[in-house]
Amino acid sequence: MTAPTNPPQPPATGGTRLDPWFGAYAERAHGMRASEIRALFSVANRPEVVSLAGGMPYLDGLPLDTIAETVQHLVATRGATALQYGSGQGDESLRERILDVVRLEGIDCHPDDVVVTTGSQQALDLVTRIFIDPGDVIVAEAPSYVGALGVFRSYQADVVHVPLDEHGLVPEILDETLTSLAAAGRRVKLLYTVPNFHNPAGVTLSAERRPRVLEIAQRHGVLVVEDNPYGLLGFDGETLPALRSLDEDGVLYLGSFSKTFAPGYRVGWVVAPHAVREKLVLASESAILCPSNASQLAIGAYLDTCDWKGQIKQFRELYRERRDAMVGALAEHLPAASWTVPEGGFYTWVRLPEGVDARSMLPRAVTARVAYVPGTAFYADGSGADHMRLSFCYPTPERIREGVRRLAGVVNAERELVEIFGTGAGLDPDPTDVENPSPDLA
Ligand code: PMP
Repeated sequence: MTAPTNPPQPPATGGTRLDPWFGAYAERAHGMRASEIRALFSVANRPEVVSLAGGMPYLDGLPLDTIAETVQHLVATRGATALQYGSGQGDESLRERILDVVRLEGIDCHPDDVVVTTGSQQALDLVTRIFIDPGDVIVAEAPSYVGALGVFRSYQADVVHVPLDEHGLVPEILDETLTSLAAAGRRVKLLYTVPNFHNPAGVTLSAERRPRVLEIAQRHGVLVVEDNPYGLLGFDGETLPALRSLDEDGVLYLGSFSKTFAPGYRVGWVVAPHAVREKLVLASESAILCPSNASQLAIGAYLDTCDWKGQIKQFRELYRERRDAMVGALAEHLPAASWTVPEGGFYTWVRLPEGVDARSMLPRAVTARVAYVPGTAFYADGSGADHMRLSFCYPTPERIREGVRRLAGVVNAERELVEIFGTGAGLDPDPTDVENPSPDLA
């Protein structure tokens, strides 16, 4: 097959290879682009770079020998099932075990309310697929998880942001935003929120605000998508009631084993009202037929044979120590910035000193062998350059301190540049240009 002879071409920017199929893509594909996180991984994974960028959980503490034995036993005893196709909704015994997990957040539901997905990322895709037509509005926190924004963009949703403060989503502004969208005749379908230990902002929706947010969403007829991969990772062991535990019909709850166990199995789930659950299963079957039986049974065996609650407790302690290292190093080396102090999860959200642009500074940070994610990745409109997300989940406390020390050197040099030349003084190579990284990034 040959490419069409004269398809419309993208503008030829420096280093971008022309794509002979450019004119053939569906409109939704034109909105897809490499996330800043993905572009970073190509360099940030080098051992000499301290990566405060990615959200990879630290897995060395897992009982790998025991897990290996359970997997071996599983394949030896139930291999013909584990390696077979399975149910579109997910393995029933795993769905029953998932009830034990969500009960920790006050959710009381039936295995039939649960749909197993390939990570909660697929759940985001399915939910968006069944609810969003091009131009529909999704209200999302400012900032929002970059992977959700990518899904929303790919279904051509319009994302309208509502700000967060240190207690999470601000109910009054949510109400005002939904009111003015309705007045403008806009169709708002979903409210997307990460209530616990937010990615990237590190904040948690307070217990007091939870019923208010639900009441507002209900009054405006908007379905809430509660994306909650970090809820059990609170450093003081406190777990707030899930939004779903307060409202069965108005909330789609997304959970995941990625952060409390291991992302490699790619197992997440949705707890959904009955009718929505059916649509989700149909959408999932058309996308993947069924989630991996091998992964689901392996997770089931882990939950049956290992002390998974004890493991989560260990993770909390590990991440708390790293959070302390991160905020301690920020206080020591970067007093001109300000940051959130998360009570759980993986991330802190740093506001940079006046005039410093996180996006244009990134290549110089990587040259100084430290990586982060610029705030611009977490806004649908590309704002947020005055912030950066720092992850403390993967590097050791010692590496975190070293990374922040390096970062402080870069930020201080940047402040001097801004003082001399004004805001926007930095060079501005595009850090998302994966095919042709600047020599600084390579
Ligand atoms: N939602 C949020 C808020 C996340 O931080 C992540 C992973 N970084 C995901 C969803 C996707 O996780 P997974 O697909 O591994 O369950």
